[in-house]
Amino acid sequence: MMELKSLSKSFDGKPAIVDLSLAVEDDEYLTLLGPSGSGKTTLLRLMAGLDRPDGGQILLNGEDVTYRPTHTRGLGFVQQNYALFPHMTVEDNVGFGLVNRLIDPVTDGAEVRRRVAEMLELVGLEGLGGRMVGQISGGQKQRVSLARTLITQPKVCLLDEPLGALDANLRERMTIELRKIREALGVTFFHVTGNESEAIAMGDRMIVLDDGRAVQIDAPDVVFDTPATVRVARFLNAYNVFSGTSEGGVFTSGDLRLPVPPGVRAESAAVHFDKAVILKGDAKPDEGAAIKATFVASEFMGSKVVYFFRRASGGMVEVERHLSSSDPEVFEAGQEVTLNWNAADTLFYDADGGLIPPVKVKGAA
Ligand code: ADP
Ligand code: MG
Repeated sequence: MMELKSLSKSFDGKPAIVDLSLAVEDDEYLTLLGPSGSGKTTLLRLMAGLDRPDGGQILLNGEDVTYRPTHTRGLGFVQQNYALFPHMTVEDNVGFGLVNRLIDPVTDGAEVRRRVAEMLELVGLEGLGGRMVGQISGGQKQRVSLARTLITQPKVCLLDEPLGALDANLRERMTIELRKIREALGVTFFHVTGNESEAIAMGDRMIVLDDGRAVQIDAPDVVFDTPATVRVARFLNAYNVFSGTSEGGVFTSGDLRLPVPPGVRAESAAVHFDKAVILKGDAKPDEGAAIKATFVASEFMGSKVVYFFRRASGGMVEVERHLSSSDPEVFEAGQEVTLNWNAADTLFYDADGGLIPPVKVKGAA
């Protein structure tokens, strides 16, 4: 098990990692989601021993390794840009770490070939071992990069945006394969990504990094259903966020009015893209939350349609419909609609952006 305790790191006085604590368990798939510049690579470099923290500790199975050199940590690091040797074959790239490591290098050629072949098969590159790295595709380079790291049998494998350079189709396939590969080997994957759907699809647990701080550590469905801060709700790219004010038990944002518990000072409300129903023309909304809007555009995205509306009071709102549950609807540009959802599906955030714990209604399931 790997533990990070109150890690911090600044560059030129500017904090990149702030008071970050985290336990990385054995045999788990952990994803770290954060926007560009939030400190993802910096955190991996600290874990790997490529950079020194300004404060805090890194423990590996209870032992302090904070200032120990990289090669003694038993970690693997799949870097963002593959970092392969272009003048070498796929086979030689994969075997490189095994042959050249400082501790316990493998010198028996037959043993190296056997383990390289095993790894190429695991990552789906059998038959390509003799190719030069320049002669394979981006997705194949990503697999070589992974194989080259995994062959050294790390306990924890750090992956820096491993699918970032791949197109959407390939990314989806590799998502499933990475999970399979990890399960087959029983190693811990610490997978860093800027892509919310990747983080949600891959991980057993998920960490959200915001400006160098771990602002939420939870199961992906918990992050998705209850983002801990209003900024997390925005990163997930799955919530409409409305800024407003609270007074006398009512939250107001333009024409949106929602009851809040007395004394609660909500400054933002968030509702998931798939919660609202779209009412055309004069249809009267149910009880609950309602806003007036006009249709702007729609977009087909695989298994769902996303409708974009402009609120009468300003700002855009998205509504998502899964094609498995309904047929696509047709609207004209500028058409007036009312967006209506169950008030209980709204999350509220305070002035600091923190989630106001939802109040359970008595008697409700
Ligand atoms: P991410 O990987 O999430 O995009 P990084 O960890 O690369 O973010 O960077 C976090 C912050 O630290 C950024 O503001 C970046 O400019 C800064 N930073 C990272 N590495 C260095 C460095 N070697 N020198 C100076 N600033 C750095
Ligand atoms: Mg990075």
